[in-house]
Amino acid sequence: MRDELLTDGGSERADERADGDGTDSTGLVSLVGSGPGDPELLTVKAKRLLEDADVVLHDKLPGPEIIESIPEDKREDVGKRAGGEWTPQEYTNRRLVELAREGKHVVRLKGGDPFVFGRGGEEMEHLASEGVPFEVVPGITSAVAGPGTAGIPVTHRDHASSVSFVTGHEDPTKEESAVNWDALAATGGTIVVLMGVGKLPDYTAALREAGTDPETPVALVEKATRPGMRVASGTLETIVDVRDSAGIEPPAITVIGEVAAERERVTEFLRNRSAAVSEE
Ligand code: SAH
Repeated sequence: MRDELLTDGGSERADERADGDGTDSTGLVSLVGSGPGDPELLTVKAKRLLEDADVVLHDKLPGPEIIESIPEDKREDVGKRAGGEWTPQEYTNRRLVELAREGKHVVRLKGGDPFVFGRGGEEMEHLASEGVPFEVVPGITSAVAGPGTAGIPVTHRDHASSVSFVTGHEDPTKEESAVNWDALAATGGTIVVLMGVGKLPDYTAALREAGTDPETPVALVEKATRPGMRVASGTLETIVDVRDSAGIEPPAITVIGEVAAERERVTEFLRNRSAAVSEE
């Protein structure tokens, strides 16, 4: 029902515009996931769209190898600007609509999958509300590929029958935390934290308070699949010190749960290029 309403609304707007100037020359926006950074982990479709698009709006997360493979004259960086300022989301939204209304085929390239903590949902809603046609091209999310390429299966029949993806980028002590760490601890499943380097001390403490065993294995996977990928391992108790001595920086994935110890069992034969910076 809701879908029907939205579809009707969209086509009415398109009709109005078509009536207005005699043609509907609006282009198309492709919301594309780039995968975790290795260009060979782009989907075949993403690669084709990057070649065919008139313009590519991207931030830093797809990583230098993928970004630099796009001709400079057709890419626009809507990530961090000089001076450290973020481009406001409203600008990106406006720019997508503006370019599409010029009849362009626009690729909005996002790290990983566009709908996993990627604001793809907001952009999609904005495009729909402006009557701009769009498509969604899923990508390989770092939430699964990061651990995976470090030899950590997010589920493993012997260790975890559920996995939760959560944001670490908020204060777990704030009253109305959107992430319920107590409930997550109670699942006993794997917890994968994105944007979780800075707040690591807060949420590891929250999980310990919620009764998670301090010996629970934890791994940090930095720059997964990219040159310079590193993995640091410890426990719920030691991982903050491990992070600090290794100097782990974003982008990194935190994996909490028994599966994080799988890596040790296979690492001798694991051929993904990753340097272990600290194993406990
Ligand atoms: N849409 C993205 C996530 C965006 S949120 C996806 O599906 O992967 C940004 C967070 O993603 C980072 O803070 C980090 O936690 C994670 N991330 C993205 N790419 C990564 C990579 N190559 N290695 C490690 N973490 C990554």
